Amino acid sequence: MPKTTNITQYECDRDGCPVKEYVGPSETASPDWHIIKRINRNNEEKSMLLCGADYKEYLQLAENQDKDFDLWKTELVDGKKE
Ligand SMILES: [Zn+2]
Repeated sequence: MPKTTNITQYECDRDGCPVKEYVGPSETASPDWHIIKRINRNNEEKSMLLCGADYKEYLQLAENQDKDFDLWKTELVDGKKE
């Protein structure tokens, strides 16, 4: 491979995921990469770069967490909580 300068490296932030992409100055990265933001219970925000497969899994996880949160938020209304 000839020497190329100004390469941008994309690397998935999910622990153990081997997906990487090297993008040259005149190339465009795959549209599969996504940067997500997550706030943990201590109100700390983290950004992560995810590959396409892990982004799909993350969306499912986040959807389930959203549903749990919505249930918790509304459970005192009209005796929903037993
Ligand atoms: Zn990944």
